[in-house]
Amino acid sequence: MKTGQIHVQTENIFPIIKKFLYSDHEIFLRELVSNAVDASQKLKVLSSTGEYKGELGDLKVEVILDEKKKTLTIRDNGIGMTAEEIDKYINQIAFSGAEEFVQQYKGKDGADQIIGHFGLGFYSAFMVAEKVQIKTLSRHEGAQAVQWESNGSPEYTIEEIKKETRGTDIVLFISKESKEFSEKQRVQGVLNKYCKFLPIPVFFGTKTEYIDSPEGEKDDKGNLKRVAVEVPNQINNTQPAWTKAPADLKIEDYDGFYRELYPMTFDKPMFHIHLNVDYPFNLTGILYFPKLKENIEVQRNKINLYSNQVFITDSVGEIVPEFLTLLHGVIDSPDIPLNVSRSYLQADGNVKKISAHITKKVADKLAEMFKKDRTDFESKWPDLQVFAQYGILSDEKFADKAKNFALLKNTEGKFQTVEEYKNSISALQTDKDGNVVVLYCNNIDEHFAQIKKAKERGYDVVELDGPLASHWIGKMEQENEKLKFARIDSDSIDKLISKDDNVPSKLSKEDEEKLKPIFESSVNKEKYTIQFESMLETDSPVIITQPEFIRRMMEQQRLGGNSFYGAFPEMYNVVINANHPKILQLLERDEEVSTQQAKYLTDLALLSNGLLKGQALNEFIERSVEQIG
Ligand code: ADP
Repeated sequence: MKTGQIHVQTENIFPIIKKFLYSDHEIFLRELVSNAVDASQKLKVLSSTGEYKGELGDLKVEVILDEKKKTLTIRDNGIGMTAEEIDKYINQIAFSGAEEFVQQYKGKDGADQIIGHFGLGFYSAFMVAEKVQIKTLSRHEGAQAVQWESNGSPEYTIEEIKKETRGTDIVLFISKESKEFSEKQRVQGVLNKYCKFLPIPVFFGTKTEYIDSPEGEKDDKGNLKRVAVEVPNQINNTQPAWTKAPADLKIEDYDGFYRELYPMTFDKPMFHIHLNVDYPFNLTGILYFPKLKENIEVQRNKINLYSNQVFITDSVGEIVPEFLTLLHGVIDSPDIPLNVSRSYLQADGNVKKISAHITKKVADKLAEMFKKDRTDFESKWPDLQVFAQYGILSDEKFADKAKNFALLKNTEGKFQTVEEYKNSISALQTDKDGNVVVLYCNNIDEHFAQIKKAKERGYDVVELDGPLASHWIGKMEQENEKLKFARIDSDSIDKLISKDDNVPSKLSKEDEEKLKPIFESSVNKEKYTIQFESMLETDSPVIITQPEFIRRMMEQQRLGGNSFYGAFPEMYNVVINANHPKILQLLERDEEVSTQQAKYLTDLALLSNGLLKGQALNEFIERSVEQIG
């Protein structure tokens, strides 16, 4: 047996390794299994070049847990190592890498962010093991098997052993503090997370499968009996969809892969983009467009980042623009530097290029779908809208391309781009200052009465809902001079598109002063402001409006959680139609009756806007029931 010193200056490197990687100890398994996969891949390469002449056999990696002895073995039948190779790759090179890491990051702020991004390779085994053995037989004919052993101090021993089979066993003697890694469930969980798509089969124990009875046994009904058999438990799919050529895949394959990625998700994605770049960087992947729901936050962070099929992270915020984190799927790139901190990643030239490229691909895909089959694109638009709006708001390049496919849908179900809409909208919808006014509602049912009135005047109304609508509207107004958006309940219909030809009012100043307190007594004055307006006789007697500005502020505040607008009170106008016969009639009634009727008219207006609730609604119903004589 030979004893040696691992080449390292720092005596106490292990405490530092442990400290740095504290919260992410589990990656040791990713590192060791990846090394085993690499060893197998290398042998394949040597075999294909003729340098290795022996049988390849079934290349595979086995993870073997001995719960009693508390050992975890990672076994491969790859290239193996000679004693010289151990000296070169394990004793010197690998450790100098670790040392460099420690020197670079010692005492620096944000060192914790490196966690999970920095693969310490073989030495990460010492995060969880008090002793590590390498038992290995090199691929070379007549090679002598050797065992390397270290307990984590810079000292190691190396000795000759008997080992019949080619390849390497890495044996970890799991330390007390890390005993979780000597539990089957935990190991299985880590393997599922990091190794699910590795290119060489990885096995861990066995699993139970049910098959038709091989002896042909039948049950009472005469059907073949199902019997339980133990089969090797393969962790991974070695050929995940993203590694295949798009031409070889059908829609079902993409949907199937989506389910493989997210077994707990029931929704199907709407469509996908298969990424395949080899210049100026390498990147493959599949991005899926999910149907976006109102709560966009819960759908985030579903893109998994891989490097050569090894799972790295599901937090890709540094690699793709924020709006793209709403997509799901996989990105695999060996060119994304993984062993560095997040701030470095953001500044990295390759990462910037990758980010711009993905954005472009996504915009191009949408544009292509729009061009190829507009009807189909339109059918998907409602589920796509939030994503597109997010992109338009956050990325100028995307916004530029999106001009050609971002759609407005009117209440008749017709879809148009903003440009098409501007050109097709009736001249009626231009106000006295020359602004084209786009009337919108967020829900046909909620604004039924107002939409009806607008249509009676020959106006068109579009539907715009979703958490980003008011931000998007703001941007459209900024970019399109003389384009204004007004929600249908933000003012009386004639004020929304104000013209010069105002209808004269039938109420005098005194009349208004007499009616005002009567209406004020029917609502909460803090929240509702009484206004008079000369509308058409045929318009409603009372309407409730909420100024566009206030509503947009409130919506944006709700989304952004911006405390600046935190004090924004919910405010409405109670607008009284100065020409409506029922209003004029109030002037002739005695005070009690006019107060009652004013309350009734206001309640009806509130009811039509969905603002009559709880006690007020109950009282209204009780009063109405009494009316039935
Ligand atoms: P890295 O994998 O980043 O090179 P590691 O510390 O993980 O760094 O490993 C150092 C070297 O040790 C590897 O490059 C490889 O040459 C060798 N090695 C590690 N594990 C194995 C293995 N299972 N079979 C053969 N060689 C291995």
